[in-house]
Amino acid sequence: MKTPLGNISRRDFMKYCATTAAVLGLSELEFATKVTEALAVARAKPPVLWLEGQDCAGCTISLAGALNPSIASLILDTISLRYHETIMAASGYLAESTYHEIVKAGGYVLCVEGSIPTADDRFCMVGGRPFREMVEEAGAKAGAIIAVGACATYGGIPAAGPTSAVGVSKIIKHKPVINLSTCPVHCDHLVGTLLYFLTTGTAPPLDKIGRPKMYFRELVHDNCRRRYYFDNDMFLSDWNDPAQKNWCLYQKGCKGPDTYADCPVRRWNDGLNFCIDCGAGCMGCAEPGFYPEMSPLYTAESERSRNIMARKTAGLIPPKEDKV
Ligand code: SF4
Repeated sequence: MKTPLGNISRRDFMKYCATTAAVLGLSELEFATKVTEALAVARAKPPVLWLEGQDCAGCTISLAGALNPSIASLILDTISLRYHETIMAASGYLAESTYHEIVKAGGYVLCVEGSIPTADDRFCMVGGRPFREMVEEAGAKAGAIIAVGACATYGGIPAAGPTSAVGVSKIIKHKPVINLSTCPVHCDHLVGTLLYFLTTGTAPPLDKIGRPKMYFRELVHDNCRRRYYFDNDMFLSDWNDPAQKNWCLYQKGCKGPDTYADCPVRRWNDGLNFCIDCGAGCMGCAEPGFYPEMSPLYTAESERSRNIMARKTAGLIPPKEDKV
């Protein structure tokens, strides 16, 4: 069947619409109509330019795990991923000339994965050029800019190192940057944001630090199934004690009371699970200050952790009776 997304089965298309509509908070019909209209006009297959700086390629792997739509459908049918150092077959001069061609044409969606060093450009060079320069150059002619993952948004793990790493919005100051700040990016957040742009031509509504409100509106703590135990001061101290199995992970370093993200609701790996339900505290990877301010991750010794307890003691984190 020839659909707005190319040659895919009707069943797959409807499945794609249903799941993506949920991601975007739209009805299935509303979403299918919007996609059909959007792809019928010039915005069909918008070019995407993906740059990688100081990163581990974890966000690329997260994107590769997208199931609804699949990464194949997304790349082959929905967007035109013109330049991505990890995925593309081209290398060397061919890759560089492709990059320059795309930038020259302008109007693309720029996705940046990884942080940008500011201590010295030599910490991250691509094709003999400072990565910082490429971000500035590509950002200047982009139609939309998405910082993909914790490193590209606020510096992430590299910000704890010697490179004075920063996120994209510290380099591109004259344009709005959409921050998708978890480590790694959640594939739903990325696909949903790309499709939002595709269907509306604009960025989704953002919070004051550039994150789409549709994904970063609520605290992890407010949707956590261990909340009852936090409210009743029942903090897990021994992972080997079965009696403490479901207790609050605050003493094990959980930063859920300080972290806005929809992980407890959306979950990861196609909705299978997320950190807290696996028995590890929230690391606060969606927040500025991750990783340096959240460390140590698995104890309550960080300044963040102490601040959380001080607020609880002062009654500033009131109990949420209905969460068990
Ligand atoms: Fe859940 Fe962490 Fe809050 Fe405890 S501190 S209730 S584990 S989010």
